[in-house]
Parts: sequence; structure tokens; C-alpha cells
Amino acid sequence: MLNIGCHLTSSKGYENMGRQALSIHASTFQFFTRNPRGGSAKSIDPEDVSRLLKIAGEAGFGRLVAHAPYTLNPCSKEQKTRDFAYMAMADDLSRMEYLPGNYYNFHPGSHVGQGTETGIALIAGLLNDILKPEQSTTVLLETMAGKGSEVGGRFEELAAIREAVKPELRDKVGVCLDTCHVHDAGYDIINDLDGVLAEFDRIIGLANLKALHINDSMNPRGAHKDRHAKIGEGHIGTDAIVRVIRHPALQGLPCILETPQEDLAGYGEEINMLRKKYEGAE
Ligand code: FE
Ligand code: FE
Ligand code: ZN
Repeated sequence: MLNIGCHLTSSKGYENMGRQALSIHASTFQFFTRNPRGGSAKSIDPEDVSRLLKIAGEAGFGRLVAHAPYTLNPCSKEQKTRDFAYMAMADDLSRMEYLPGNYYNFHPGSHVGQGTETGIALIAGLLNDILKPEQSTTVLLETMAGKGSEVGGRFEELAAIREAVKPELRDKVGVCLDTCHVHDAGYDIINDLDGVLAEFDRIIGLANLKALHINDSMNPRGAHKDRHAKIGEGHIGTDAIVRVIRHPALQGLPCILETPQEDLAGYGEEINMLRKKYEGAE
């Protein structure tokens, strides 16, 4: 069974996201934990969350994916930006425990000229300070397009972050693979998906791959741009995306669409199309 959903707006609360997901036949979804470009977070309403958990339980949803704000940069040069990353992630992770056992995805960050090694050390330092052995949430490092000074455009960088996390906390750190980002970073998922996954396995370990972001890309492989396209309207194409979601090594992972749809109905159509292709109907 394909476990697929999309990014949803959380402005009307958790139960509302569950209903939005049901309305488009999604079996998972992603949401921002707080304003993606600012910092504020609404306090959590446990009743609202428990209504979502009821919907998710009855419908058999897979694990959900929370997404940290884009402004979170644990490896900034600015102390105040790193302080925000610390505050926001610690606060988000404490709120995530209201919906136990799910994922919290974040962009590793941009080292802004300090160099990749310093970036990796700062990111791992934040995780070592914030993660708790008793937490039920797994944080996910997102594979990045390698735009500017982004950390995480190479599998080696994500592996280095995990390896710098204390052994007793390391199983709290997984990876989310974004198809647009890895393509833009230069990995050939169109012609050599098996090779890319073998490389991922060798460097990070496929057991640590916990979620997928399913996006087409407006740019050719290796462009380092990070501009998402609707499935079939970019350089990756529908066939290559379908090979990803059907790959035997990737079954059961939450597949989250982050395509530039105008509305929920657009995501509904994309989910429907991918479910049909997944089943091999066309
Ligand atoms: Fe992301
Ligand atoms: Fe993504
Ligand atoms: Zn992106």
C-alpha cells in the first residue's frame, strides 16, 4: 500500500488537517510546526490533537511528518539565529510528544561561509543538546539541493552529522530524501535510482531513511536550485517518480508531495494519479 500525502496548512488546527487529508484520500501528511518564515508557534490544544489521532487511527494513517520553519538554521554565523534554532526545535519537539511516534523534518542549515565541517559540528552540537533518549519523535535531516552554502547536499554530510551525534541519541536521527533536492544536488535518480539508493545505503544506511518528499524539479540534474515542479511538469518526470514510489527498498515510507499546487484539489489529483500508477493501472 502506498503511503502518500501532501503538505497541508495547519492554520485551522490538527483535526482540520486530518479532515483535509481524508478528503483527498491521503494516508499521511506534512505540516509546519509554526510559521515557516517567522518564529511564533500557537500553543497546542490537546483536545484538537486527540481528535486528529482518532481520525488517523481509524483511517490507518502512516506516520506524520512535521516540518521545522525554514528560518531555523542551526549552523548560522549569527549567535541569535542559532539561539532561535535551539529554542524553536526544543519547543517543537516538546509539542511533538502530544502526537507521539512521528517525524520532525528539518533543513540542516547553511554554514554561510564557515565551511561544511563547522556547519556539521554546529548542527550535531544542537542535536546533542536538544535530543532526549526518552523522546518518541525521530528528527529527520532533509537531503538538500546544495544551494549556496547549504549543508546536506551530499549523503556524506548527512552521515557525518549523524555520526557526530552521541551514540545513545543517534537512533533519534533519520533522513528524509527529497526527490527534487537530490536531483538538483546531482544524484541521477532518473537513470540510476538503484545506484543512488545503493550509495545512500553505503554512506547513511537505508534503515535510516524514514520519509520521502516527492517533488518534480524545474531544473536539470545538478542545477543546485531547489525549485519544485508538479509531478510530470519538471525535469524528473512522472516515470522516474513512479519508480521511486514503487522501489522495493522504499515501501511503507511516508511519501509527501510538496509540489506547487494552487489548492487541496490539485494535491488530490496528484495523489490519485500516483496511486493509479503505483498499482500499475496505467
Ligand atoms: Fe523541506
Ligand atoms: Fe522537501
Ligand atoms: Zn525544496
